[in-house]
Amino acid sequence: MLKNQRDLPQINTLLERPEIKGLVDQYSHAETVNALRKLIGIARDDLIDNEGTNLNLLDNQELVSSITLEIEADRAHSLRSVINATGIIIHTNLGRARMAPEAVRAMHSVAGGPSNLELDLKSRKRGSRHAHVEKLVCALTGAEAAVVVNNCAAAVLLSLMATAGGRNVIASRGELIEIGGSFRLPDVIAQSGSVLREVGATNKTRLSDYAAAIDTETAVLLKSHTSNYKIVGFTSTPDREKLAQLAKENEIILMEDLGSGVLVDLAPFGLVDEPVVSDIIKAGVDLVMFSGDKLLGGPQAGIIAGRKDIVSALKSHPLMRAIRIDKLSLAALEATLRLYRPPFDPVEKIPVLRMLSEPLSSIRKRAEDLCLALKELGLLESNIIESKAQVGGGTLPGQELESFAVTASMPSLSPDQLSIALSNCRTPVITRIKHDKVIFDLRSVTESETSLIVDAMAQIVKK
Ligand SMILES: *Cc1c(COP(=O)(O)O)cnc(C)c1O
Repeated sequence: MLKNQRDLPQINTLLERPEIKGLVDQYSHAETVNALRKLIGIARDDLIDNEGTNLNLLDNQELVSSITLEIEADRAHSLRSVINATGIIIHTNLGRARMAPEAVRAMHSVAGGPSNLELDLKSRKRGSRHAHVEKLVCALTGAEAAVVVNNCAAAVLLSLMATAGGRNVIASRGELIEIGGSFRLPDVIAQSGSVLREVGATNKTRLSDYAAAIDTETAVLLKSHTSNYKIVGFTSTPDREKLAQLAKENEIILMEDLGSGVLVDLAPFGLVDEPVVSDIIKAGVDLVMFSGDKLLGGPQAGIIAGRKDIVSALKSHPLMRAIRIDKLSLAALEATLRLYRPPFDPVEKIPVLRMLSEPLSSIRKRAEDLCLALKELGLLESNIIESKAQVGGGTLPGQELESFAVTASMPSLSPDQLSIALSNCRTPVITRIKHDKVIFDLRSVTESETSLIVDAMAQIVKK
């Protein structure tokens, strides 16, 4: 064992050893030198902090395997798929909505080669990328026209810029939302070049409050879905129908930032307060914006649906080019939207909807299978417990879904250590800790993923 910093080998000397030369041939000079630098640095820190270092730089075999591990770790992709065992179905940090295989196939088919993204195959003239989904969005929402951009934040910004730039936007004090830290409605309104006129109080805003604030400078009445918080108690907001009437009488635009944007009613699954897009259009809202990768269950996208004259203005706005949707997302969005149409049942076909509607009995079955498989690994304790899952993605705050989870604990590791080890496995498993135990919530885990959890635990138990 090395005891002294003076004994640390020089990189150039190490590079002359035949085993290290072999690594340079197998990988590259730069990667090998990088790995060596890192390993020598670790050994040096060990020598400063402790009596010695366990890194054996003198043993060729050990050195080769340490360098190989370093290089392979460096070569591994940064963005990887993980197992979401948190029970939060639309987890913002874990990529939000998981997409249907049909959507993944659609991305795949346009990814590797050319596509008719902006070519009209009938006329062979230049076409519009917006054409691929506009009719579908209209059919599903009842809107006259629609256009899709990069995400919902961009959809809100573009809509405000194109309709209200320089003029006033009226919004209720109860609806000045912040989503995920970087999206704050008052700031977005300011960025759009329009001026926010706040009306009403945090808990109550009446139609008369909106009416009193309208003047010649008013361009837009903006409603926003309070998607990630809930004001309870004595609250009131005017019906959309009444607001629509007021907007119409004053020749201004009623717009709604809906956030999640569900296309089917979720009340049968016990989830309330999430307005369906078609009801909002029916109520007379001129323009509604919503995300593609929240409850819709598709790719990241911002969908804008509503009045044809407004949508046309958006399509030709200079900002459009900067925030347009890319072909992969567009392909996935089209495929996802098609799953909402006959002959398909979206609740069966869209993974997000399937997960939030899955009966408890089938979640329980998966929990039993996982628990049994974990017990067979030995060295760990595992039980089935009741759990509360969530929809997530800043949607349906406070609404929980019944679920089952499997606990895992090992005498040799604290719950924190176990959860870190799980997130460092070949396929990382992301868990929650409850009652001082790591838990795998099965509502957000598919059947095929349970075997990957078993693999991950097997790797940890073997160590
Ligand atoms: C999530 C959300 C947004 C932002 O949507 P992104 O697709 O993440 O850009 C905007 N408004 C509301 C109400 C939301 O819930």
